[in-house]
Amino acid sequence: MIRLVGASRPAVATLIAAALFIGACSSNPASTPTAVPTEAPTPTDVASDPGVAPSVSLDPRAFITDPPDPEASPSASPIARSSAPTDGGPQESATPKPTKAPKPLSDYITRGPKGKNGEKRLALTFDADMYPFMYPTHDTTNKYDPRVVKLIEDNGLHATIFANGLYVKAFPDLIKELSKQPGIEIANHSWDHGAWPGCAGRDPAAPAVTDKKAEITKAAKIIEDTVGYKPQWFRFGGFCYGGTADLDLVKAQGEWPVGNSCFFGDSAAYTAAQQIASVKACPNGGIVVTHLNNGVYHPNIYEALKALIPWWKANGWTIVNVTELMGQSPPEN
Ligand SMILES: [Zn+2]
Repeated sequence: MIRLVGASRPAVATLIAAALFIGACSSNPASTPTAVPTEAPTPTDVASDPGVAPSVSLDPRAFITDPPDPEASPSASPIARSSAPTDGGPQESATPKPTKAPKPLSDYITRGPKGKNGEKRLALTFDADMYPFMYPTHDTTNKYDPRVVKLIEDNGLHATIFANGLYVKAFPDLIKELSKQPGIEIANHSWDHGAWPGCAGRDPAAPAVTDKKAEITKAAKIIEDTVGYKPQWFRFGGFCYGGTADLDLVKAQGEWPVGNSCFFGDSAAYTAAQQIASVKACPNGGIVVTHLNNGVYHPNIYEALKALIPWWKANGWTIVNVTELMGQSPPEN
């Protein structure tokens, strides 16, 4: 069960641009289907030459966006929940049970409300990526960094882990273990990290999505079978989707699409110091994305996170998961 802390009523802006991040989750997050292509090395590049580290030299700060204050422009889109009454069962006419009222969310979440009374809030998200080309070997050199997992556990970090279906299939015990950590929630990162039709700048390593609904539901099923609850957040592989109809399809499955608002810079192209500086620049109410993956794709996350955790504590930041940031109810068993 996920504990909810510091819930506050969200009122989130409409679509806003998200930051670019690169690596195993080679990406082109954007508020429109016409996203720019990444300059990052792709997993295919890395896989074809594992001895060569990616060598781009982009300034991570260049990808930090400054989205509008979500509290300034409320949206009226309630999250769809499986817990909502849908059947024709017995009606309780006298005193209805308290309900978990859905709260308004933007069509595509990239950040949440700021903390109150000086508190700064940041939603920490980890993508757990398993491309099809990685699956035959379970890509054990890049599956996850046990030191990062230990940091999460030892520090009681709250976070949302967006795992794609193949990743969960490869490492069910890891996902199950993490799901039991207070403040950790498992969310949907599609089945195979595929690129959705119409997505510009797609990652060549990503398979073409042919059955959009199955990308969502197949991953949701293996997550539910593994951790005992349905995921309620969805992140497109590489933030790559075709348009608003894709967002609507996600919502129709009872999940909500989530992007990011600031850049971790967690690929091999960035030093730990660059990553730390990038994350320190995240906005209050932001969503930052990094990876469970490590190895040649993301070798410096541990060093960055190890430094950021005490910095967050010393500087008034509360690290939350997406559910907590958005003031929603936790997923139910
Ligand atoms: Zn990813």
